[in-house]
Amino acid sequence: MGIYTKRESLIQALLPFRKNKRIGFVPTMGALHSGHLSLVKTALEANDCVVVSIFVNPTQFDNTGDLDKYPRTLEVDVDLLNTLQGKVFVFAPEASVLYNDHVVAKTYRFGSIANEMEGKHRQGHFDGVGTVLNILFRIVQPDAAYFGEKDYQQLQIVKKLVQIEKLPVQIVGCPIVRENNGLAMSSRNKRLTKAQFEAAGLISKTLFEAKERFKKQSIDQINQWVSEQFNDSSVLSLEYFEIANAETLKTVERRRSGNKYRAFIAAFAGDVRLIDNIALN
Ligand code: AMP
Repeated sequence: MGIYTKRESLIQALLPFRKNKRIGFVPTMGALHSGHLSLVKTALEANDCVVVSIFVNPTQFDNTGDLDKYPRTLEVDVDLLNTLQGKVFVFAPEASVLYNDHVVAKTYRFGSIANEMEGKHRQGHFDGVGTVLNILFRIVQPDAAYFGEKDYQQLQIVKKLVQIEKLPVQIVGCPIVRENNGLAMSSRNKRLTKAQFEAAGLISKTLFEAKERFKKQSIDQINQWVSEQFNDSSVLSLEYFEIANAETLKTVERRRSGNKYRAFIAAFAGDVRLIDNIALN
């Protein structure tokens, strides 16, 4: 496995894979866990090689504390990737390599999907995500790129990004990988205390039960029930729970037949922000 920090050296290493071979791409911010590895495995099955980028992207953070505390574990990440069968290239650049010392996000017109949930609560987040992915896609030039449904809104944004930027890459969504207590795996989980980790099981438990309730209860009733669950928790505080149209991501108050819906949660355990979501129908 090769580890690359410069654009030119990665581009050079990928040359043999440009003709009649497929290049897969898994962008990450590192502190890898089984969720990331499942994306890499899926990518390895469908491609001749896979580029895994590891880069904590400053332009997608609206909170410098969160950026500073984001876990960085490159050596362990490389060891984990080494356990996989297949040709993996790790791309771990400095910010200056990607941004040429101009660490600023472009402004995208993603439309209303960017204004809901994460877009509302994390100012400029999706512009930052779009900016860094556009740069990375143009370096890696993958045939397909793999994203987790854990960040479902991001997945929709990336599909829009490749249309806007006219990038010839297939975007593949992959299922959420969970801890034993149901908590969606996340690099931020490394920052949880044992008690917070255990309490955070409530997030997915609530989503699973919301899915059951969706069969018989109104959205109002479910919203009410969810806030009660979080009011009872001394460890977690709910930032939002929303039932939204799975395509437009607009919050819905009443369901219509034929539409697909998902439930989305963001909650804090101390200063650690956790998100999760589930398909309701
Ligand atoms: P991150 O390093 O958090 O930016 O995540 C990199 C990629 O891994 C994104 O496409 C995430 O959606 C995906 N990912 C993160 N956690 C999980 C998980 N628990 N299950 C599946 N995919 C995940």
